Amino acid sequence: MDEQLNLAPFCYLVIDENYKIIEMNAAMRELAGAEKHVPGNVHNLLTVASRVYFQTYFMPSIALHGRVDEMFLTLKGAAGPVPVLMNTVKRNGLYECALIPMTIRGEYEKELLLAKRNAEKINQEAAEAYAKLQNLLAEVEQKQRELEELNATLQQMTTTDPLTGLKNRRYLEEALSELAGQAEAGLPLALLIIDIDFFKRVNDTYGHQMGDAVLQELSWKLLNEATGHGIAARMGGEEFVILLADSAKSKAEAFAEELRRKIEHGEWVHIPVTVSIGVAIFETGDNADSLFARADEALYASKNAGRNRVTVA
Ligand code: GH3
Ligand code: MG
Ligand code: MG
Repeated sequence: MDEQLNLAPFCYLVIDENYKIIEMNAAMRELAGAEKHVPGNVHNLLTVASRVYFQTYFMPSIALHGRVDEMFLTLKGAAGPVPVLMNTVKRNGLYECALIPMTIRGEYEKELLLAKRNAEKINQEAAEAYAKLQNLLAEVEQKQRELEELNATLQQMTTTDPLTGLKNRRYLEEALSELAGQAEAGLPLALLIIDIDFFKRVNDTYGHQMGDAVLQELSWKLLNEATGHGIAARMGGEEFVILLADSAKSKAEAFAEELRRKIEHGEWVHIPVTVSIGVAIFETGDNADSLFARADEALYASKNAGRNRVTVA
């Protein structure tokens, strides 16, 4: 081998048809650590995977074309695996091989591969985190719905009288304040206070439980009459209010009288009772308090006049 080839900055190798190594230049010997272990056969230079690749493609290519171009192999270098690119030509029954180590390129490709794997892993983690977030959002929405339902139930509870199911005093006060505001702007409004006559006697004679049943039955009648005309509420005890938002004086009075008459003459499952009613119709200068006070005075007048009657303030 001439000196130039021996010292060339690439590996040079000559093998025979049985892959027996005939010659190596200095770079090849150094890479293979050939000063200590003479490889003998080219197979001993290759990693297992490269050996399989070499056996599959080298011989067919050289038989067909008399040369092999750019075969990518990995050598078992003295200091670990070394990726190389090999070109071979056939001359005088021998194969002359030039190999260029590609350690830097190999490292670069390894890093690229690693970066790609990391990116895929991050992608997958992001997808998983997103799925988790979606689940959490769905849970939050579900909780929100439950909370809304609970709020609706609570709202219902805080505005409903538990014994009779009618609107309670709290609701009535809010509704009255709102309707009085509208009445000040010119809309009609009438307020009826309805109080059971001699209710104490019902309790005293038949017991408190029967008294409760009568309150419930009367409430049902009041609701029946008020529906479509206004709001029926229980103020407390045996005292009720109906707010009529469509009442000229004659209409409110007629409504109250009809109500009183139906209670007196209607069918009662339990104990029949009568009621006294005070009616006040919103007038200029009125507000919620004055309207209520005038209805209360009218109720007092109905009681004083003998009960079971309607008085319009
Ligand atoms: P008046 O004709 O003057 O209205 O006589 P009254 O007996 O109806 O009036 P009073 O205010 O003296 O009595 C009301 C009674 O209503 C007293 C109380 O025991 C009864 N009462 C109040 N709340 C309830 C209740 O929730 N259930 C029952 N069973 N009774 C009640
Ligand atoms: Mg009473
Ligand atoms: Mg009373």
